[in-house]
Amino acid sequence: MQYVFPTYNRFPLDIVAGEDWHLTDDNNKTYLDFTSGIGVCNFGYSNELIQKSVAQQLTKIWHTSNLYESHLQDEVAHQLVGTEDRLVFFCNSGTEANEAALKLARKFTGKSAVLSFNNSFHGRTYGSMSLTGNPAIQTGFAPLVPGISFADYNDPAAIEQIKPDLAAVILEVIQGEGGVYAAKAQWLKAVAKACHEQQVLLIIDEVQTGIGRTGKRFAYQYYELDPDIVTVAKGLGNGLPIGAMIGKSNLAVAFGPGSHGTTFGGNKIALAAATAVLQQLTPEFLAGVQTKATQVWQTLQNEILTLPVVTSVTGLGLMIGIHLDETVAVADVIEELQQNGLLTLSAKHNTLRLLPPLVMDSTDLMFGLQKIKQVLSSKTQK
Ligand SMILES: *Cc1c(COP(=O)(O)O)cnc(C)c1O
Repeated sequence: MQYVFPTYNRFPLDIVAGEDWHLTDDNNKTYLDFTSGIGVCNFGYSNELIQKSVAQQLTKIWHTSNLYESHLQDEVAHQLVGTEDRLVFFCNSGTEANEAALKLARKFTGKSAVLSFNNSFHGRTYGSMSLTGNPAIQTGFAPLVPGISFADYNDPAAIEQIKPDLAAVILEVIQGEGGVYAAKAQWLKAVAKACHEQQVLLIIDEVQTGIGRTGKRFAYQYYELDPDIVTVAKGLGNGLPIGAMIGKSNLAVAFGPGSHGTTFGGNKIALAAATAVLQQLTPEFLAGVQTKATQVWQTLQNEILTLPVVTSVTGLGLMIGIHLDETVAVADVIEELQQNGLLTLSAKHNTLRLLPPLVMDSTDLMFGLQKIKQVLSSKTQK
C-alpha cells in the first residue's frame, strides 16, 4: 500500500469476500476465520437479518443529525439496556465510547482522578490512550491526559488505591489486547465494593468482551457486578462502525444538551445493523454459544494445553488466549496457520488469540483447533 500511513503491520493479502465464517482473498484463497475482524463480525459475514435490515435502511435514509428525534436510536438503546434503569450515548467506536465515559465520570463527580490498570487497552484517542496501561501505545505522544494512575490487574493492593478522590475506576473484565487475562471473581467484587463505598464510579470496558463474545451479553454479568458505566463497540454493528456508552440514569444530570456529541453518533445505517445484531442476541443464542464454548474448552484443555510449547490457555466463552513459550514466536504461528487457511490473531505476551464468529458451527470450530494443534505440534519437534 503506497498512499496510506504505515500505522499497521499488514499481511500481504486483501480479503475481498466473506460468507458465514469463511473469507476469500484477492488470490481466491479461502480461509476459516478465527478473528471476526478482531471481535467485530460475531454473526459472520453474510447474516441474513443484518443484511436485510441494513439494505432496507439504505433505501430509506442514511444519516440525520442529532438535531432531530430518532426512534431507531431509542429502539437500539432500549435493546441495549433492557429493563435496567440506564441510558445510552451513541458514538462510532470503542475509543469514543471510553472518551464519553471519562468525560461523564469527571463531569458527574466533579473529580478528575481515574484509576486504570496495567496491561489494559481502552483505545487510541487521547483520553482512552491515557487510560491504556501499555507504554508502547503511549510512547511519543506526551503529554497525556493528566490525573490517570495505574494499578496491577488482579492485585489485592489495587483495592487500597480506590479512594474517594477518584472519579472512576475503569477496567476490562478480561484484558483482551493485553493477552486475554481474566480478572479473578473475588478481586472484581472487591473492586466493585470499594468503588461503591468510596463513591467512585465503576466503568467496565466491554468493547471486546461484550455482545455475546464470552457467552453472555456482557462479560461482567458472570460476576454479578452493577457497573455505573459500560462501554461497547466492536461487535455491536457486526462490521458497521458504532459504539455506545451505557450509563445509569442518574448520571444524566451531567450529560445534558450541549455537554457532549458527535456528528455520526446514532447513524441510521449503523443502527440498522445493531438492531438486527441485538435481536439475534437472545438467551437461546447465548446458550448455544456457551454450549459450543464448552466443547471448545474441552479440546483446548485436552489437546492444546498439553502441547509442550503451550504454557497456558486463558479466556472465557469464545474469547481465547493460547500462551506460547519463548521457543516459538506467535507471529510465525499466525503466518503458518494463514498458509494453512486459518486466520488467527495475537495479543501481548506471545499469545495466540482466537475470536471466532459466534455463529461458527462446532465442526469448523473443531477443525480450526485441529489446525492449531498441528502447527503447534510441529513447532515442538524442532
Ligand atoms: C478495541 C478496543 C477498544 C478500542 O476500540 P476502537 O473501536 O478500536 O476505538 C477499546 N477497548 C477495548 C477493550 C478494545 O478491545
